[in-house]
Amino acid sequence: MSDRPKNVVILGSTGSIGESALKVARDLPDRMRVIGLAANRSSEKLANQVAEWGVKEGCLADSTLLNDFKSRLPAGVTAHTGEEGLVEMATLPEADLVLIAIVGTAGLRPALAAIEAGKDIAVASKEILVMAGEAVMTAAREKGVRVLPVDSEHNAIFQCLEGRKATDVSRLILTASGGPFRKKPVAELADVTVEQALNHPTWEMGPKITIDSATLFNKGLEMIEARWLFDVEMDRVDVIVHPQSIVHSMVEFIDGSVLAQLSVNDMCFPIQYAVTWPARVANSLRPLDFAELARLEFEAPRWDDFPALRLAQRAGTVGGTLPAVMNAANEIAVAKFLENSLRFPKIWETVEETMDAHDVIDHPKLDEILAADAWAREFASGQLT
Ligand code: NDP
Repeated sequence: MSDRPKNVVILGSTGSIGESALKVARDLPDRMRVIGLAANRSSEKLANQVAEWGVKEGCLADSTLLNDFKSRLPAGVTAHTGEEGLVEMATLPEADLVLIAIVGTAGLRPALAAIEAGKDIAVASKEILVMAGEAVMTAAREKGVRVLPVDSEHNAIFQCLEGRKATDVSRLILTASGGPFRKKPVAELADVTVEQALNHPTWEMGPKITIDSATLFNKGLEMIEARWLFDVEMDRVDVIVHPQSIVHSMVEFIDGSVLAQLSVNDMCFPIQYAVTWPARVANSLRPLDFAELARLEFEAPRWDDFPALRLAQRAGTVGGTLPAVMNAANEIAVAKFLENSLRFPKIWETVEETMDAHDVIDHPKLDEILAADAWAREFASGQLT
């Protein structure tokens, strides 16, 4: 690639990852040029971003707010909306890289459209690889484009694997902070509040992923994400709790050596590497100060107290439409929990009930994945009314 900055479209620019991506762009103007921004309903915030970054294309997915969005835009900006709008943004002719940072599954079609148009994609939205990992990775291989991981754990593994042979790898080891309830007795989990669950010990993130970190579904989703991103079987994807979130993940090789990637826990690190890859570029981020780190601890996850991990192992091992079903049921249950209308353990109970009731389709096509997703949402909602 030439020395010009990479042209980047950010889908989900008003969220936590989106804002970190804009921080990276501000820090590295010679490397990253923002050319398109998209969000769902944050009309004013998105319009302000569009104006600040001088981009000519913006998309507010919720079409009921399109007029409001248009009225806030500077002259000369094209406003898009709906799923078609996200697809148009993902396929802008001048885009080199599309960052998918939309919470949930709405990023799937735009991601596939970007790949089809020959763009590299940087994926924060783990849900799309959980739902459709096989389809996304196959499409990327066929088109010869890159799927660059933004999730800090997968970005770490991506870095540890660089230049290594797949046959040399014995295990991928994802680190997990353990979430706010790492030490909570199992009997007390039934009574935790939304506020407690949103109080993540080490990362500041959007509400959905923060609840997923509390149930450990986040790590479960990441196990499946890793399975597809790095093409390894589920039983070679392991999890270790590491409360400090400094070691972002590790790869164990067949000779017993382990490589790890470490940094301060700031999502700007993995976002930057996804944008500048394969180059390493100096930045203004705070480097690790080992003298300041009191210690790095590791402990086994509480598999029996946090059933999300085993449910994800099962979904990833069975494959087919089951991961999409797990993901969709979890989204429904988390939304209800965030509305204060569900007790915490009911999240994984609902997911398990929905998975048990599903007839799995192997090697599903996109429409079968979307149908399984829709079925699971309806079934899970039915369980919760
Ligand atoms: P946030 O809730 O902070 O932000 C979500 C973003 O997605 C917002 O810009 C939102 O727009 C947009 N969005 C939501 N639905 C749609 C839609 N239908 N169409 C278009 N845009 C939409 O989430 P996060 O930034 O925390 O997470 C984003 C993704 O990244 C998730 O998949 C998460 O799992 C993953 N991730 C996040 C990490 C983090 O540190 N935050 C770490 C690793 C992965 P609006 O503001 O209008 O609602």
